[in-house]
Parts: sequence; C-alpha cells; structure tokens
Amino acid sequence: MSRILVTGGAGFIGSHLCKRLLDEGNEVISLDNYFTGQKRNIVPLLNNPYFEVVRHDVTSPYFVEVDQIFNLACPASPVHYQYNPIKTVKTSVMGAINMLGLAKRVRAKILQASTSEVYGDPLVHPQTEDYWGHVNPIGLRSCYDEGKRVSETLFMNYHQQNEVKIKIIRIFNTYGPNMHPHDGRVVSNFIMQALRGQDITIYGDGQQTRSFQYVDDLVEGMLKMMATGDDFIGPVNIGNPGEFTILELAEKVIGMTGSKSKIVYQPLPADDPMQRKPDITLAKEKLGWEPKVHLEEGLKKTIAYFENLIREDKSI
Ligand code: NAD
Ligand code: UDP
Repeated sequence: MSRILVTGGAGFIGSHLCKRLLDEGNEVISLDNYFTGQKRNIVPLLNNPYFEVVRHDVTSPYFVEVDQIFNLACPASPVHYQYNPIKTVKTSVMGAINMLGLAKRVRAKILQASTSEVYGDPLVHPQTEDYWGHVNPIGLRSCYDEGKRVSETLFMNYHQQNEVKIKIIRIFNTYGPNMHPHDGRVVSNFIMQALRGQDITIYGDGQQTRSFQYVDDLVEGMLKMMATGDDFIGPVNIGNPGEFTILELAEKVIGMTGSKSKIVYQPLPADDPMQRKPDITLAKEKLGWEPKVHLEEGLKKTIAYFENLIREDKSI
C-alpha cells in the first residue's frame, strides 16, 4: 500500500484517479480548493477509511508524508482558466514549486498532469513529444499554456538539480462522467445543450479538430506512467489518436441523444487551435499503453451521467 497525494482530487480527472488508486488498495489524500472541483465527485469515496480530504490551495506550501504525488490542481476549461488568468499562472507555477519541494523533502515520486496545450496551435501534425510547440505567449490562452510549459521546466529542473523522481504526461482532450456540467468544454456543452433541447453552439465553422480520450483510458495511462522505472521520465503524450471535427462531434451528440437541437455558429475564440491529434508511439513503446474506448462508447456513458445529473437536480 502506498500513500498518495492527488492535487485537484475533487476535479473531473482527479476524482476518477482517486477512485482507481483506492480500488487498488492505496491510501489516498485528495487536496483541492474547489475552484472548479465538486464535492459531489468525491462523496462516493468518503466512506472508504483510506481516503482523506484536504481543503487547500496549491499556491501555498503543504506538508505531508507521502510516497507519490499526482499534481493535477489547475482549472482545465478555457472559460475557467481565463476567469482569473493571474491565478491560473500562480496555480501552475507556484503549485509546481510547492509540490516539487514537497517531493524533494519526502523523496516522493511526482507526476505532472501537463497538456497538449504546450504544443499551442500546432504546425506539426500529429503532435510528437519532440515538437516544441507554437504558443502565443501573450494571448487569451497563454496563462494556461505558458503556466503548464513553465511547470514542465520546473519538473525537469528539480529532476536535474535535485534528483527528484519526476514523470511528465501531456494529456489530450479528455471527457467522461464527473465533468462539470457548466465548465464550458465542448463535450459537456454539447451534451447538456442536446439534453435540454437548446441550440448546439459551434465556435467558428466547426472544421477545427480534436482527439477525444475517455477518462478511464487516461487514468490507466497515468498509473502505467507512475509505475515506470527511473530511466523514463517523459514527457509522454496520453491521448486518443481518433481525430474528429467539432461539427462531427456535434452531429454525433445530436444523433446519440435523439435531440431536436439545432446547430448554431458563434465566433471562434482567439488562438483556438485548428487541429490536435497525439502521436502515441512513445506511450505504446514505453508504457505498453494505448486507449481502448471508442468515442461512441465513451459518449454513451457520459450522456448517461449528464441525464442522471439533470434528473437528480433540475436546477442544474
Ligand atoms: P478540473 O477543473 O475538473 O479539475 C481541476 C481541479 O483542480 C479542480 O478540482 C479544482 O478545484 C482544482 N484546483 C484548481 N486550482 C487549484 C488550486 N490553486 N489549489 C488546489 N486545487 C485547485 O479539470 P480536469 O479536467 O480534471 O483537469 C485536471 C488536470 O489535468 C489539470 O491540471 C489539467 O490542466 C490537466 N489536463 C486536463 C485535460 C482534459 O481534457 N480534461 C487535458 C489536458 C490536461
Ligand atoms: N467549442 C465549440 N463549442 C462549445 C465549446 C467549445 O465549438 O460550446 C470548440 C472550441 O472552440 C474548440 C473545441 O471546441 O475549438 C474544443 O474546446 P474545449 O474548450 O473543449 O477544449 P480546448 O479548446 O482546450 O481543446
């Protein structure tokens, strides 16, 4: 049994990770300030005596004896990370410094939840880990993109300077149950709109692409990465290479929900990447990992989750 700290543990991905780690017999501490996380996500875990919950902000130091740290604390949806961009940078940068300091002190292994956003609006397609990216340092998305890039830098620096055992994964668009119904991301927006018969809002012409990964596949990849030996630290892409236009996603969601919603077109936000698709050759080779859940199968489970949420609380 390991004692494991998950920052951002009440968030979408964090809550799935905490559950999986508990299921595997570990002791888990969820640390969260509930900016975008929801208590509802971790309520089912509270009756497990090996689960602890801490309300804390990663921009302040936190001390605890643990064997492993998964550093996920950071708003991930563009609406939320742009709400207070200075705080977003602080969360990524000061959060990384505080968690790396902790890992150094207690000799814990630490994994950083980095992102495909480090590639920006990519000029290389699909994106491989050796691509340095095409990021606007002063744009709307830069608080998130550059914050995550500096976090990767800090992870490498702590590893090289202080021999901290690090792991870096670059996560591509992930979806599934426990996403916040109003977090503004495309999968949750489209499903909520379709279920309520509201217009489906496509930004731009809908020809931009994304690769959608179901959360269970990601959690499997995270665990496999944490389990690798000291000779592999990443960064490694963890995503589903299936690539879809946003219009295709909208049509799929309308079809699968049987909704009467109409598609409407709204302006494309600045710096919105035109294409995104992971090259997962490295993950296959080093982790023996590849995603298993097809988009329809994952959407089915996610639609069922949101249907249930609406049934339980009509005010959502
Ligand atoms: P989320 O917003 O659901 O979860 C983030 C969690 O971090 C929330 O519970 C939030 O309350 C918490 N948090 C935010 N700021 C904090 C702070 N200062 N101190 C403590 N807790 C704080 O998002 P998610 O989709 O679960 O993303 C989790 C991580 O994975 C993030 O670091 C994100 O950047 C990364 N990631 C996610 C995706 C994706 O598609 N979901 C893609 C790439 C990277
Ligand atoms: N998007 C959209 N309608 C929405 C929400 C998002 O067309 O209601 C588009 C958005 O402009 C982007 C893509 O869907 O091109 C993915 O957006 P999301 O916010 O989910 O993630 P990210 O842009 O960070 O990949």
